[in-house]
Amino acid sequence: MSISDFRTPHRLDEALSTIKQLGPSALVVAGGTSFIFAPVNEDRVAVDINGAGLDGIRRENGGFRVGAATRLSALQKHHEAGWVLDRVAIHLASQQLRNMSTLGGNIARIFPWSDFAVALQALGATMVIAENGERQVGADEYFSSQPARLFKNGGLLTAVIVPAVGGGAGFGYRKQTQASFGFSLMTVAACMELEGRTVKSVRVAAGAGIPFPSRLKAVEEAVKGQAVKEGVFADAAARGLAGLKFKSNAGMSEEYIANLARVLVGDALTEAWQSAKGGAA
Ligand SMILES: Cc1cc2nc3c(=O)[nH]c(=O)nc-3n(C[C@H](O)[C@H](O)[C@H](O)COP(=O)(O)OP(=O)(O)OC[C@H]3O[C@@H](n4cnc5c(N)ncnc54)[C@H](O)[C@@H]3O)c2cc1C
Repeated sequence: MSISDFRTPHRLDEALSTIKQLGPSALVVAGGTSFIFAPVNEDRVAVDINGAGLDGIRRENGGFRVGAATRLSALQKHHEAGWVLDRVAIHLASQQLRNMSTLGGNIARIFPWSDFAVALQALGATMVIAENGERQVGADEYFSSQPARLFKNGGLLTAVIVPAVGGGAGFGYRKQTQASFGFSLMTVAACMELEGRTVKSVRVAAGAGIPFPSRLKAVEEAVKGQAVKEGVFADAAARGLAGLKFKSNAGMSEEYIANLARVLVGDALTEAWQSAKGGAA
């Protein structure tokens, strides 16, 4: 990568006007950890957004507003009723990477192994984008393809609004790597709301072993409205994943990844159900 200059805006409006003025030569830098995978060949001007006031976690309307430049280590250390992203952050690679990577950087450029692209789809999070004013983009639209399309006119991801999980709802997260610090073979997140023993609503998302992190709507349909009893989640995983195309990953065959997905979807649903009914999370 060739960086010809380095800008350090101190406020959001300064960051936006710097990016606008530089045009396509602007390279937004948050934690800077992705550039090893996505090298930039032409001359670019780095715009470091870490001083622009985009970090921090605060309560908002019963959920959480997380600044895009918040380090993953801060998500990991945050513990509060309804907060579940600590359970996702702890599974991401190594402490060194969590100390550098930001939430915004993790989902502004999505890699097959991106943990938060999976978790935030299951949670139904909302992304806040600043360009000319502020707009909010729901998880289904935001994660429908590579988010670069949303920033191409000089916009910035400024925050993520994360629902609090509690009061009859629960969250489950499963990620399988070959070795610790390894890239994910398959990642699954589930968020479930119960009404008595019945699943009132559920969102399930997966990444790594499929072409792009996505919701598993067929699994959701197989679970919603079901009374929870022995085997219900394993059956729903088998039925809901039947038509899905998996990709071989890290030397593992498609068939292996498909079997792994069935196990992890069942486990993530079980974990979400346990935490929804107040059991072990
Ligand atoms: C060895 C290794 C292993 C890893 N393992 C995992 C893993 O298991 N799971 C996982 O999820 N991640 C993993 N990562 C991290 C992941 O691949 C990304 O590198 C990281 O999440 C990017 O975050 P960042 O803050 O460093 O963003 P940067 O690298 O600074 O930026 C990423 C991209 O987003 C753009 N960008 C950044 N912030 C914004 C913003 N606010 N608005 C608009 N655009 C923005 C940048 O221009 C760039 O294109 C790993 C990284 C490494 C190096």
